[in-house]
Amino acid sequence: LTRTASEEMPHMSEDIIEAKVREICQELVLSPEVLKEVCDCLQEEINKGLAKDSHPEATVKCFPTYVRELPNGKEEGRFLALDLGGTNFRVLLIEFSSKCRMDSKIYAVPQPIMVGPGDGLFDHIAECLASFIKERNLGNELLPLGFTFSFPCKQEGLTKARLAQWTKGFKCEGVEGRDVVELLKQAIARRGDVQIKICAVLNDTTGTLMSCAWKNRNCRIGLIVGTGTNACYMEKLEKVELWDEVIDDPPQVVINTEWGAFGDNGCLDFVRTEYDNNIDSESVNPGKQLYEKMISGMYMGEIARQVLVRLVSEGLLFGGFASDILLEKGSFFTKYISEIESDKSGDFNNCRAILEELGFNDATDADCANVRHVCECVSRRAANLTAAGVSVLLNRIGEESVTVAVDGSVYRFHPHFHNLMVEQISQLVKPGIKFDLMLSEDGSGRGAALVAAVASRCAAMR
Ligand code: BGC
Ligand code: MG
Repeated sequence: LTRTASEEMPHMSEDIIEAKVREICQELVLSPEVLKEVCDCLQEEINKGLAKDSHPEATVKCFPTYVRELPNGKEEGRFLALDLGGTNFRVLLIEFSSKCRMDSKIYAVPQPIMVGPGDGLFDHIAECLASFIKERNLGNELLPLGFTFSFPCKQEGLTKARLAQWTKGFKCEGVEGRDVVELLKQAIARRGDVQIKICAVLNDTTGTLMSCAWKNRNCRIGLIVGTGTNACYMEKLEKVELWDEVIDDPPQVVINTEWGAFGDNGCLDFVRTEYDNNIDSESVNPGKQLYEKMISGMYMGEIARQVLVRLVSEGLLFGGFASDILLEKGSFFTKYISEIESDKSGDFNNCRAILEELGFNDATDADCANVRHVCECVSRRAANLTAAGVSVLLNRIGEESVTVAVDGSVYRFHPHFHNLMVEQISQLVKPGIKFDLMLSEDGSGRGAALVAAVASRCAAMR
């Protein structure tokens, strides 16, 4: 173990240590007033995103998705879906009748491909798709395909999406500014061994909204709190100055807010901490996705690690000695936060096991309690910030009762995230608005098929 504190520590009682830990963590605690201010800022940024003049400069882009109809539950047929943008890449085969059946396969996206040339990425996707089609003998059918591409894209139609910028650790040369559907088609053509019909390209938030709306009439918002964070919502066309097409029926469109970039113009600096600054400057996209970096799974564990390292260096944890593992960037996984907070109160079983993995074999109960406190502060801050975002959307929509479809590893696996969000949203929404947060089953897969299905239904009606 390495002593990181600069000088010999004076002896402190456990009570004093606990008080100091709480004081240091206080910075991560957002008061109701601060959260209200965050809401006001986001509301303003969304307005800027939607308005023509301010859109080019806006950080929260609010891209219209061209999805204007929600599913009616009667969709039918077989579809392929591709899901790129989280931890894994997946190919899916989805069949709708009255039920939804699904077969899927997960493929790894090797790190060198995530940061290599764009053609390499799309060749890899096309290769996985081709092998899926062959393995399942789907070669003789021209199945409609929905492509869930979970990065900020300026959509120019249901099948045209230009990547605005990479996020979440991806950084492939030659893709920003290009239409990802075209790039996928080209990669498929380079192989020449499969035929597909791409019917829709969508964000995972849109997929999540559609997947939930399939059975739930009130669903108007899709939210992801996973590797990254983002939300989409159904907006009235009259409020979307950006909309360049005719205003016909239905007079609404799903807006992909890309709220992960909220704060990139400095408007969240009043809540950001030294930990947030460190994480940002060590990321592959410094200055970008600042709201996302305070919330999502790609960063939450690292925020906690930074706080822990600081506490050790002040002699407040593990007697002032850090392990080599703890000092390594990325060594405190976000899933540790969920596991530590899953311990029953008063017992530190998961916490102790994790600390052992990190090289601390004799953490005291007081150490465990303080580690847990750090995790709680970090996850609570993330939940509160997400809740602020959802409240802004609920207040904009202004309907009496709205269901929010949610997916993502943080929301799914953190034991209290749902409750923390519900509690906070209740504080922030206008009186009279009722809401619920519903886990959306596999938005990126089923949702993609639904967008493709709804697109063909609408085409048939025109
Ligand atoms: C991307 C969004 C995506 C979100 C959740 C963000 O980094 O910019 O497009 O919806 O992650 O996957
Ligand atoms: Mg996903």
